[in-house]
Amino acid sequence: MDVLEKEMSVYESMAARFDVAARKLNLESGLERYLRTPNREIIVHIPVTSDDGRLQVFDGFRVQHSIARGPCKGGVRYGPQVTLDEIRGLAAEMTWKCAVANIPFGGAKGGVVCDPQRLSAGELERITRRYTAEILDYIGPERDVPAPDMNTNEQTMAWIMDTYSMHVRHTTTAAVTGKPIDLGGSLGRREATGRGCMTVCDEALKRFGRRREATRVIIQGFGNVGSQAARLMHAAGYKIIGVADILGGIYNSHGLDIPALVEHISEARTVQGFLGGEAIDNVEILEQDCDVLLPAATESVINSQNASRIRAKILVEGANSPTTPPADAILFDRGVFVIPDILANAGGVTVSYFEWVQDREGYFWNEELVNERLQIIMVDAFNHVVGYGERHQVNNRIAAYMLAIDRVAFTLKLRGIYA
Ligand code: NAD
Repeated sequence: MDVLEKEMSVYESMAARFDVAARKLNLESGLERYLRTPNREIIVHIPVTSDDGRLQVFDGFRVQHSIARGPCKGGVRYGPQVTLDEIRGLAAEMTWKCAVANIPFGGAKGGVVCDPQRLSAGELERITRRYTAEILDYIGPERDVPAPDMNTNEQTMAWIMDTYSMHVRHTTTAAVTGKPIDLGGSLGRREATGRGCMTVCDEALKRFGRRREATRVIIQGFGNVGSQAARLMHAAGYKIIGVADILGGIYNSHGLDIPALVEHISEARTVQGFLGGEAIDNVEILEQDCDVLLPAATESVINSQNASRIRAKILVEGANSPTTPPADAILFDRGVFVIPDILANAGGVTVSYFEWVQDREGYFWNEELVNERLQIIMVDAFNHVVGYGERHQVNNRIAAYMLAIDRVAFTLKLRGIYA
């Protein structure tokens, strides 16, 4: 692996941060090795008949990093570039994220190597059902609870839930989260990650004595996380001056009309062509002058090549692993206040936890209650991470890792090692 390839690897980034935090915590070496290694890695090969009658075989993964604090929890992503290494890194990040939010789950992640753009709905359904059947013995409400991630959605979760239920012979809504509301999904789940990003951003503004109305925001990625963050932050008074998706970006220093942009996207399927701003490249947009930068697209977009040109004062990591470790050091030197992914985007898994609780109770909460409870968890997590960083003289990212590792290690010590 060359230097740049290593920098861009999600697993290597997670491992590098883990190592720094574990060293600072003075973790005993056996425990350190145990926490660095996943519990279980499952590789499956999924035979699926395509619409034209050809038999194809897709590779799928499920990595379960830890069950120390509760059942595993983590998304399933589809994409041509999905690798076991990436899934392994993201599974560990889920363990740390659940511990930062202080919710009773360990971490997992899954993926199938396929190109959803080139697959019909029927083919995607067959891939999803066979993938679920292959990992069936290892998932379930008490074992491992999948959720949507890149290129999977509420429909994918409905198929997983149904396949699981057919095998166990009763409807088990708590087997997955991020489901449609009518199938046991939670109100507020769709908005949860974006809402959580806004909550931690609000807390950062309080620390700096800033007002939302005087805060200019740029968002990269306009899918679930980015579009909900834009919508909610715009409504709350923030000035959204730039947004981008995979095809390009739109910029307006006076602020974008987000409801009009959302309407444009419902027809055009992209931010491109929106008349309320100028076109801008989706990487260059990261380097524009702003107060808050919210990457909500994909991995490693802020790296050693561009970190010195980032002009934001606050970085809210909506995406998983958008910043590489070498970029962390550059941002730290430049005084950027970083709200790391395992804190900033924990709103999604937090409301997934609420969904799992509601499904198991069979009693559903109204949206106000969901949002109120989400707010309590996000504010508490923010204060714990930032306070920990100040006490231990480390940046917010390392503070979040230290807090998380400390919590998981403490639980493991209480449980003891079964051997
Ligand atoms: P999504 O598929 O709904 O949206 C992704 C968006 O990013 C799309 O608008 C896409 O066009 C854009 N994009 C992709 N590559 C890009 C690029 N190179 N430049 C600019 N834009 C690009 O995905 P999502 O659910 O919104 O997830 C986004 C990120 O947030 C991922 O890293 C995901 O793991 C993370 N995340 C999601 C959730 C959640 O609840 N959905 C929770 C936590 C973390």
